[in-house]
Amino acid sequence: MSITAITNVTVIDGAGQRTEAATVVVDGERITHVGKGPAPAGATVIDGTGCSVMPGLFNCHYHSSYRLVGSTGLPIGMEGSPGFLTLRGAHNCALALNSGFTSVISAGTPHAVDASLKAAMDEGIMRGPRIMAGSRDVSTTAHTQDKYFHWYWAPGQHPGVLVCDGPEEFRKGVRTEIKRGAEYIKVFATPGHSVRGAYDQMEISPDELRAVIDAAHERGVKVRAHIANKKAIMMAVEYGLDAVDHGDGIDDECIALMAERGTFLIPSCFFPFRSQHRRTGYHADVMRSEMLAMLAILPKAHAAGVKIVLGDDYGTLWLEHGEYGKELGFYVDESGISPADAITWATRNGADMMGMAGELGDIRPGMLADLLIVKGDPLVDINLLGDTDNVLVVMKNGEFEKNLMADQPVRVAIPQLVNA
Ligand SMILES: [Zn+2]
Repeated sequence: MSITAITNVTVIDGAGQRTEAATVVVDGERITHVGKGPAPAGATVIDGTGCSVMPGLFNCHYHSSYRLVGSTGLPIGMEGSPGFLTLRGAHNCALALNSGFTSVISAGTPHAVDASLKAAMDEGIMRGPRIMAGSRDVSTTAHTQDKYFHWYWAPGQHPGVLVCDGPEEFRKGVRTEIKRGAEYIKVFATPGHSVRGAYDQMEISPDELRAVIDAAHERGVKVRAHIANKKAIMMAVEYGLDAVDHGDGIDDECIALMAERGTFLIPSCFFPFRSQHRRTGYHADVMRSEMLAMLAILPKAHAAGVKIVLGDDYGTLWLEHGEYGKELGFYVDESGISPADAITWATRNGADMMGMAGELGDIRPGMLADLLIVKGDPLVDINLLGDTDNVLVVMKNGEFEKNLMADQPVRVAIPQLVNA
């Protein structure tokens, strides 16, 4: 087992707390020491002067295969073959590692791309972050996303959507996605947040939603939902939904219930922020006003104990894959939360959502060694994390995935890809 010691470094833990001039020791796959003291004999020593060690970051709303620039006129998943989309997913996974994101949780995928990526990583033929695989969007006939796939394109299926109607079909749909490798089921509960439609409308009936959650939980699988109105959020959280994606329309009542139930919130305001100056019209105006309301209420939700995590629709329109680290600075600048809180959302809360609390998302003895060495101090300047050149070292499970501090720098190998 190799031992690595990072000396004279600032340690930032999953609560965003700082320890100066510390030594961090990694033995095998785990962190074994954090604190004062010299490097142990025989360790490979990295002088961390001027740098910080922090937990590997989590992107909890990840679409590994997405890349829509402008309007292709095609529903997501139809712009390439399953093989091509999987290669694109491999490319984006390398970008995630290079940016310091050692874990991602999928928010939906066509063609079981995530499960294939995970299998490739397990076999050791591909490098990438820990990935919790997503499902197709399990949703009803004529829900907003389904309507993008015109009836006259039949025969065939929308590769990103599994259409179900009625509780029994939803149960079967969830089990089908589990068979295809999904670990987090995605459903569309409402339109809103860039998905056009009547914002107060439900896309799934209460008994269908209940069936989804029960069928997934029976098999130990989690459920996340695209939801953007208060009534739907309250109902879904009451039913035991694990994660609210977007959550436009949350208010004090939603916050209280989500905090009580431990429901995760992925506010995903970076996409509407980026698109607000590029889009006009009624839908753009609604999206902007809901984004501003969310940014204003986030500090209150955090203070109330809602478990907020990062992640967004990278790969769609004006948010590129590889920009993930900019999201921390975005929330600090636009929502007024502290850099320490942004780090907690990106680390400790992400690990909790992945079901790995106590193993990942922190820098202390006993934890798995998913960690970064960053040039400078992100608690002083959180926007450092938005520049991948500042992410000098990425370690996952005790192994170097990127090491620009070695005599012979080791870079993340990013697969070349010709875009569709
Ligand atoms: Zn999404």
